[in-house]
Amino acid sequence: MKRIFVTLTLILVSLLTGCQTGLHRKTASDDVVEQLQQLALSSDLAWQILASLTSEVGPRMGGSESDGRAVIWAVDKMHSMGFDRVWTEPVTFPRWVRNNESAEVLAPAAQRLMVTALGGSPSTGGPIDAEVIQFDSLEDLQAASIEDVTGKIVFLSTRMRKSREGSGYGETVVNRSRGPFEAAKKGASALLIRSVGTDRDRLPHTGMMSGSEPGPRVPSAAMSNPDADNLMIMLSREEPVNVRLNLDVGFEGEATSYNVIGEFDGSEDLTERFLLGAHLDSWDLGTGAVDDGAGVAIVLATAKLISNLSVRPRYGTRVVLYANEEQGIYGGKAYAKLHQLNMHDHLIGAESDLGADRIYGFKTRVLPQAEATIENLARHLKRLGIKREDTEPAGGGADVGQMRKLGMAVIDLNQDASLYFDLHHTANDTLAKVNPEFLRQNLAAWVTLVYLTTSGSGTFGPVEPSD
Ligand SMILES: [Zn+2]
Repeated sequence: MKRIFVTLTLILVSLLTGCQTGLHRKTASDDVVEQLQQLALSSDLAWQILASLTSEVGPRMGGSESDGRAVIWAVDKMHSMGFDRVWTEPVTFPRWVRNNESAEVLAPAAQRLMVTALGGSPSTGGPIDAEVIQFDSLEDLQAASIEDVTGKIVFLSTRMRKSREGSGYGETVVNRSRGPFEAAKKGASALLIRSVGTDRDRLPHTGMMSGSEPGPRVPSAAMSNPDADNLMIMLSREEPVNVRLNLDVGFEGEATSYNVIGEFDGSEDLTERFLLGAHLDSWDLGTGAVDDGAGVAIVLATAKLISNLSVRPRYGTRVVLYANEEQGIYGGKAYAKLHQLNMHDHLIGAESDLGADRIYGFKTRVLPQAEATIENLARHLKRLGIKREDTEPAGGGADVGQMRKLGMAVIDLNQDASLYFDLHHTANDTLAKVNPEFLRQNLAAWVTLVYLTTSGSGTFGPVEPSD
């Protein structure tokens, strides 16, 4: 009987949301959503989880000792939050270590450069002294002659553009991902890039070169924006610029970490669940509060608030805290490989991994028959200042997106990324940069999304598999 009532309510909601919003009659589901939003907007749960992670674990680079502690933290946290079941799945990858790193200008004016090695970089095997050759872009390096570049330290000076969508990242990150390989092809001795970041702090931004890329690579580091500016001025004069680079870093065997998974059941005995994701690992320079501690806190708190409802939604929720996203999406890929045969157990998926700022928009990749639910979602998210933006289909994020590639339906809640790349992958990624009010707005949006999608008829996918 209850099921029939729910179905009828949903048809009613569909019919009404199909009309102008002014004609919408309030349903029981609307009341629950509004209560959930109020609860989220006054909840410190996400903040408490984040503060716990950054203070009890801190930086947690994939394969490090602290990464192991992060896994234990996550399992304990899920147990203490009352998840119905908690387990881990192993994820194995090459272990990369950072021991020491430094760089200095030798001529024309001796001074230190603030640098950090790029993940995946080999060691310089002691200091390398060489002349710097600068290029405005990766294409310019690719067009250069081997003769001009051989033996030199290549400097890629491209500056990242700031935008709300964070689209400047994709344009510039090729210097980091491809640069080390292109510099090797030209016979360079090493690579320095201007950090892929939008700040003016004297802090370099680390990040991975293309981990899966085969072929030779040169020792590579990123320098802070102010150091890159200073170097550009030196290079604008006639005399050669010589730099010493010393990177004691590199791969050391293999490491095994874990995807940490927790589930809350729904009110009905249904196998499909909402796949809610964030990555547990971080880079080693900051405490990984923003990338992606905030995401971890948001998805855990979301699942908890939904599970606390006196009547849970029909479908359950599965939270996956992915292992080693930073060095090559290892956790997301391992999860997709292991769970591809039970694709149909995934109702829909979404991931939080673009910082801790306000959510301003959302995108979908769902079947057309989900339209009524999506319109209802749009109506409720509008209250939080979030607009539907279906200019292009949702991607699902780095980790959860691995399941989208196999046909799982996904939704993106887009955070304002204007300031994210000021501190992304730097020592500045700490709890102090997280605004508790923004975290609560995120939580309110996420509970809205998960509640409305798990309490409906459940038809979101499969969608067309895509890369
Ligand atoms: Zn991240």
